[in-house]
Amino acid sequence: MTYDFENPQDFIDAEKIWNHIEKAQSPAPEQVREVLAKALEMKGLGLDDAAVLLACEDTDLDEELFETAKKVKESIYGNRMVLFAPLYITNECSNCCTYCAFNATNNELIRRTLNPDEIRQEVTALEDLGHKRLLLVYGEHPRFGAEWMKETMETVYATMSEKSGQIRRVNVNCAPLDVEGFRTLASAGIGTYQCFQETYHRETYAKYHIKGKKRDFLYRLHVFHRAMKAGIEDVGMGALFGLFDHRFELLALLSHAQQLEADCGVGPHTLSFPRIEPALGSELASNPPDVITDHRFKKIVAIMRLAVPYTGLILSTRESAEMRRELMELGVSQMSAGSRTYPGAYSDPEYDRPEVQQFCIGDNRSLEDVILEMAQNGYIPSWCTACYRKGRTGDHFMTLAKKGFIQEFCIPNALLTFREYLTDYAGPETKKAGEAVLAKSAGMMAGRKCAAEFSELLKRVEAGERDLYI
Ligand code: SAM
Ligand code: SF4
Repeated sequence: MTYDFENPQDFIDAEKIWNHIEKAQSPAPEQVREVLAKALEMKGLGLDDAAVLLACEDTDLDEELFETAKKVKESIYGNRMVLFAPLYITNECSNCCTYCAFNATNNELIRRTLNPDEIRQEVTALEDLGHKRLLLVYGEHPRFGAEWMKETMETVYATMSEKSGQIRRVNVNCAPLDVEGFRTLASAGIGTYQCFQETYHRETYAKYHIKGKKRDFLYRLHVFHRAMKAGIEDVGMGALFGLFDHRFELLALLSHAQQLEADCGVGPHTLSFPRIEPALGSELASNPPDVITDHRFKKIVAIMRLAVPYTGLILSTRESAEMRRELMELGVSQMSAGSRTYPGAYSDPEYDRPEVQQFCIGDNRSLEDVILEMAQNGYIPSWCTACYRKGRTGDHFMTLAKKGFIQEFCIPNALLTFREYLTDYAGPETKKAGEAVLAKSAGMMAGRKCAAEFSELLKRVEAGERDLYI
């Protein structure tokens, strides 16, 4: 790592970003098509190229952008979709982010922090639905440091439901820690560490983060450098779209990814692009300054897919079922399903609780409903956690992904986890649709290098063994 920890700099060059945006105004159709042709080489795009696609206002060309993104998505990721659920551990927070219901001054919100028994209850409820990958979410509060978070992670990993359930990958979305704090999370077996910069525009950041540790823009900006120094190789970055000009945010997010790769030798494992949702007590969340229409949002996702073709794109249940269907095709590779956004939600039959939740959910369908629809549309839901457990993380993962070998691991492993799901959790309708996708996809494994190993593992899963992967 070449990065200077003693002297952290603001590497987001706002002037350069605005220059790209200015220069790209009203691009000629040939210019847009040139960028799309370059994107098809699947080597990624520069900020200047992304700015051209953002500036295009021709809806026919936007359709060409969407078609190109679909091709790249299909050719790198195939019809696989990794599924996870967020698990809120605490909604107590000492920060004051004006768009978030958990902000310290929101007196309407009922505060709750799960104790170990409550965590076990939540995890069991999620495991009984078939979940294997969780994203733990925490407010930032002096009472809850890295050691405490580590204990919550260990509780999650140690909880096993009677129905063969076990959480195999715990990702974390919590406030930035110091290197020591990240070492603590690493020792508990963290999967991906996720943190969103919210906005990369410094004045806007200062305006909407009015109290608490989170006011420190640079400490947040350098969070992944510290995480990587602590040995966490998979990190997920993102911006909260709606706070500031989406063109600036997208280019800044890409330059953050480039900077991390330049300094640490590996870029982000995933990118997230949440749109602001209405939240209790937040005027701002209901009236975001930069309105992200559905069309604009689709463009953001498609451009990201082309700009960083090998980086996972994560979509949450903030979006409606219909939007999620479209974004899946355009480039999303991981999505949450059956999500609830408050502590204790999965053990609560009354899941719609504005007085405790972080924001409103756009897709309220159950995990099984999401899976049924995916199977009907030919997708393979995946709970694969093999790369992380086999050490294929960070630059090892990227090298594999870039060489295209990922198809040799991801598809077979996805099929093995889907086989488990269909046997252990699916109802009759999902089983029927799922078996058809599974049979077709398993048939397509013939001739691949991994074919023999896959077929052997599939037989073992069918015979009752669990958690097998290549
Ligand atoms: N407290 C930690 C932090 O702020 O980094 C992590 C948890 S916080 C609940 C996770 C993310 O939720 C934030 O980074 C923010 O992007 C997102 N968020 C907050 N309010 C939101 C809203 N109204 N709509 C959509 N996403 C929101
Ligand atoms: Fe707290 Fe995170 Fe919400 Fe900000 S976004 S108020 S830090 S939970």
